[in-house]
Amino acid sequence: MNKILSNKNQKGPDNIIKSLCLLAVEGELAHSILLETEDTAKKGLKSALCIAKTLLCHKQGKSPCNTCTACRKIDLGSHPDVKIVSAKPGYKAIRVDDIREIRLDAYLSPNESEYKIYIISDGGLINEQAQNVFLKILEEPPLNIKFIIICESKFLMLPTIRSRTQIFELGDEHNIKFSAKIKETINQILSAIVEKNDFALLKATAELVKNKDNFSKIIKELYYIISEICIQRTKNEDMKNYPGFNNISIKRLLKIRRAIIEIKDMINKNVNTQIAVCEFCIKLGGN
Ligand SMILES: [Zn+2]
Repeated sequence: MNKILSNKNQKGPDNIIKSLCLLAVEGELAHSILLETEDTAKKGLKSALCIAKTLLCHKQGKSPCNTCTACRKIDLGSHPDVKIVSAKPGYKAIRVDDIREIRLDAYLSPNESEYKIYIISDGGLINEQAQNVFLKILEEPPLNIKFIIICESKFLMLPTIRSRTQIFELGDEHNIKFSAKIKETINQILSAIVEKNDFALLKATAELVKNKDNFSKIIKELYYIISEICIQRTKNEDMKNYPGFNNISIKRLLKIRRAIIEIKDMINKNVNTQIAVCEFCIKLGGN
């Protein structure tokens, strides 16, 4: 268990997208998700389309097949249930009228799929007035609707929208050079999970109540690590990077990942760090 972070784990953006696709397959994506990336036009859109394809792919695998009619239509931009929303020609912002149009359309059933998907190509372009109208849709989301908002920074969206949205960062934060102390804490947490040792978990996280920044970094990294482990386990891949995790059931792994996502949401919603750390220990301990 000591070398988990010293391995060259491939936690690049592609793996983040894979884990998002896995969430889509498991039906764990909220009505609204936000992909935070500086590269909204390429990386953001590519990721959003990949998630859309996974949701609508006829083969219903863990990633899009890229060959069925649904996947091909999405690639060609001709799928009637996948709409890319941008500022209208001649306008610099996505305006109230644009969001009202979506609102009317969103309550109509999908044309040929299980979901209707709206990809908002740049959330930063939705002006505040329009965001308030958008919020109304999120407060009473129509069935079978997914909004994928691509945005340079989640802080460009109103806090009320953020609190109803799952936020995923596609940046290169997985390349963060962790301090030795953070690496040690992550390894202690992973060991405590493997050994089902609640006391070790409490001990590893004790100091984090005073350090929101470190806790947030650790939760992000744990999210990538556990997602990667879930992907490897579901593909029956060799787990040599994560010794000890071979013996944990997929059901428990998914439960752990869900708990980490919930803690990530708490951090995004600015919940008090002491409460978030406490919740983390309750959710991950005792199972
Ligand atoms: Zn397909």
